[in-house]
Amino acid sequence: MARVELVEVTKRYGQTIAVDHVSLDIAEGEFVTLLGPSGCGKTTTLRIVAGLIEPTEGEIRFDGQVVNHVPPHRRNIGFVFQSHALFPHLTVAENIAFGLKIKRRPKAEVQRRVEEMLELVNLQGFGSRMPSQLSGGQQQRVALARVLATDPRVLLFDEPLSALDRNLRDQLKYSILELQRRTRKTAIYVTHDQSEAFAISDRICVMNAGRVEQVGTQLDIYLRP
Ligand code: ADP
Ligand code: ADP
Repeated sequence: MARVELVEVTKRYGQTIAVDHVSLDIAEGEFVTLLGPSGCGKTTTLRIVAGLIEPTEGEIRFDGQVVNHVPPHRRNIGFVFQSHALFPHLTVAENIAFGLKIKRRPKAEVQRRVEEMLELVNLQGFGSRMPSQLSGGQQQRVALARVLATDPRVLLFDEPLSALDRNLRDQLKYSILELQRRTRKTAIYVTHDQSEAFAISDRICVMNAGRVEQVGTQLDIYLRP
């Protein structure tokens, strides 16, 4: 778990200001959603937290430590993208174990962890299946299990539901919330969908043209004119 702070974070691309002096303080275990129209700077902000993009100005802090120059793989984050992109030639268990193997964890630990993760996402007994044998929703849960397996400090979600149909979106949004609650991880979630943001967030950060317009609970955002 980690507190995540963005302090006056700015990202410029030539004349374009993708992110404009964004400050945000996210508590340990909190679920914060960046909400706003396409092009408002959500993804760039998320990638800056991940370390995939360096800010032009400003600081990112994890638990009070500046991480601006810490590379992504040392930040201990879990990134969930729009397309789950499981490895099609690997079994479900091998997919979940992938990040642990990269970290050269002992075999017994990897096996135990894979079983734990299958249980966490309600897919006990599916370890030896291939991704193509699973439904879309099950595949997304495997993708979540793969991210959670390495026990990241912070979960980052970039429109993870936008490629799915409505039914799946509804199911999965509550799976994501339940998993975040059970693992008590700090989460930052990007979406342009207001109802999605309202359904899952502790707080919502409304962005427009690179800036933070409002930050608050669903009620705060409704009540403010
Ligand atoms: P969102 O995720 O809210 O759709 P983005 O963070 O992707 O917004 O983009 C914010 C703004 O920055 C947009 O105007 C986009 O075109 C611009 N932008 C993003 N990435 C780049 C880049 N690599 N080069 C130039 N402009 C970019
Ligand atoms: P997303 O769906 O994540 O917002 P986009 O489709 O906007 O992504 O952009 C895809 C990629 O192109 C990203 O790496 C982004 O940084 C880059 N990009 C976005 N806008 C521009 C732009 N105006 N000029 C150059 N690169 C851009």
